[in-house]
Amino acid sequence: MYNPKSTKAEEFISDEEVLESLKYAEENKNNVELIDKILEKARLGKGLTHREAVVLLDCNIEEKNKEILALAEKIKKDYYGNRIVLFAPLYLSNYCVNGCVYCPYHAKNKHIPRRKLTQEEIKQEVIALQDMGHKRLAIESGEDPVNNPIEYILESIKTIYSIKHKNGAIRRVNVNIAATTVENYRKLHEAGIGTYILFQETYNKKSYEELHPTGPKHNYAYHTEAMDRAMQGGIDDVGLGVLYGLESYRYEFTALLMHAEHLEAVYGVGPHTISLPRIKKADDIDPDEFDNGIDDDTFAKIAACIRIAVPYTGMIISTRESEKCRERMLHLGVSQISGGSKTSVGGYFNPMPEKEESAQFDVSDRRSLDEVVKWLMELGYLPSFCTACYGSGRTGDRFMEICKHQQIHNFCHPNAIMTLKEYLEDYASPETRAVGEKLIEKEVQTLENPDIKSVVEKDLVKIHAGERDFKF
Ligand code: SF4
Repeated sequence: MYNPKSTKAEEFISDEEVLESLKYAEENKNNVELIDKILEKARLGKGLTHREAVVLLDCNIEEKNKEILALAEKIKKDYYGNRIVLFAPLYLSNYCVNGCVYCPYHAKNKHIPRRKLTQEEIKQEVIALQDMGHKRLAIESGEDPVNNPIEYILESIKTIYSIKHKNGAIRRVNVNIAATTVENYRKLHEAGIGTYILFQETYNKKSYEELHPTGPKHNYAYHTEAMDRAMQGGIDDVGLGVLYGLESYRYEFTALLMHAEHLEAVYGVGPHTISLPRIKKADDIDPDEFDNGIDDDTFAKIAACIRIAVPYTGMIISTRESEKCRERMLHLGVSQISGGSKTSVGGYFNPMPEKEESAQFDVSDRRSLDEVVKWLMELGYLPSFCTACYGSGRTGDRFMEICKHQQIHNFCHPNAIMTLKEYLEDYASPETRAVGEKLIEKEVQTLENPDIKSVVEKDLVKIHAGERDFKF
């Protein structure tokens, strides 16, 4: 029985409701009247239900599809302006006891080198990341209660926050670790994490169990209810995502939005972010062995429909995707990207020789952070290293309220300008700096509030003189 308010996985992600929604979408994919009605609602910028959104996803009318993509671009601009937040993943350990068939860290892979960073090695990684200019990390680790217990993760977070190298600092640590207990989520919350990210991989229970044949991750309900436990443990920013390619994208899309509706219904706050990963080649993984791969056009349509359905949720795309694909997704709704990423343990400071590489997946976009920043600016985007909302307690429902009222411009835009200025002063190449200084001049002129504008102008002078960490 479908019940978004239930905290039981099989009730808030009811298979029956997903299938009925897919049937409804199939029946209405050419229903102009209904599609127009949904688009009219979507234009209000308050989001859509999963059923409405999947009708748009399935829509088969070329002219309407153009409208859908254009609306996604408009909503993106209204809610996020031209800002793009930057981050990097930091792999702590690839020890893992699970048997996920799409991931090279699965326990049966005996030839991939296993590695777990010591606190000293974490320090070296963080200094390397700070020297690139990063302020925001997502830590990643396999599931292994012996090698990677919660105490190790907590100690690592403490180490990361403690490192102040030159003008560098990691100001927000997002955490992507296996589903755990309320008690452990509470510990993560107390350690000051930003977003807790956990990919569902697939919402289809049968496929989920087949794709996770062994290990604690096999338990569908425990994994699917993880965000509930995270919220109960005090974490109010959670990040969802599925791994496209494992199951039918229509099923995943619908269930993902049902998950978002569930979090909103029970905890009053939807997901902070939704990530968009597609299955990629890696050590002993061949994406062609999975039947549900999606092409770039479908991927773009998914991004657009998510943007329209949950306008206030950040969307993330990683370096798994190529420069070309990332550019398209930025227009349609993505608000955060990684840059200069290494997806192996120790990859920033002390990478292993290529033949002993321990990467979780192949990176498509191999450009440096400096190149990514310059590229974004040349496309008209404003790269942001801001972490101010987190530092000022604007998380969970407080953040969502600001976002829903499109007030985020008053905070995020000036903060993006100031953090970009810091980046240009401390880390950018001369070419990137030249592009950035021009952009900052232009962006300051777009600040409508004269008080905010005047503060930003003064703070930019102070940043040039060496002061750091200004924020609204
Ligand atoms: S996806 Fe995560 S849990 Fe599964 S094998 Fe890879 S690291 Fe382990």
